[in-house]
Amino acid sequence: MSYSRGRDFLFCNLCGTMLAVPSTEYAQCPLCKTKQNIKHIKGKEISYTISAEDIRRELGIDLIEEQKVQLSKVNKTCEKCGHGEATFYTRQMRSADEGQTTFYTCTRCGHQFQEN
Ligand SMILES: [Zn+2]
Ligand SMILES: [Zn+2]
Repeated sequence: MSYSRGRDFLFCNLCGTMLAVPSTEYAQCPLCKTKQNIKHIKGKEISYTISAEDIRRELGIDLIEEQKVQLSKVNKTCEKCGHGEATFYTRQMRSADEGQTTFYTCTRCGHQFQEN
């Protein structure tokens, strides 16, 4: 049985079966009935962000998943003070349909605005 590091908490410690989640309190191995505390699993979520998508699908936990892609300067006129330079970064929204949203921060006044 081989699976990537960081995902093993979704599998039974004893037999390696993917855990089911019959309640909000614990995950349970459907094969050998070993229980694993979900609070324990949730704690690991933070450090294993790469598997957040898998965890959410598996446990039905609603995560806010946003990734800062880049931060650089661009010629963009601030809505507030009219300054012509802002830093920006993009966030990939949860659904692929929603696409990316670009966030701008004015380098003069710090005003934040966004553009889809
Ligand atoms: Zn098991
Ligand atoms: Zn400004």
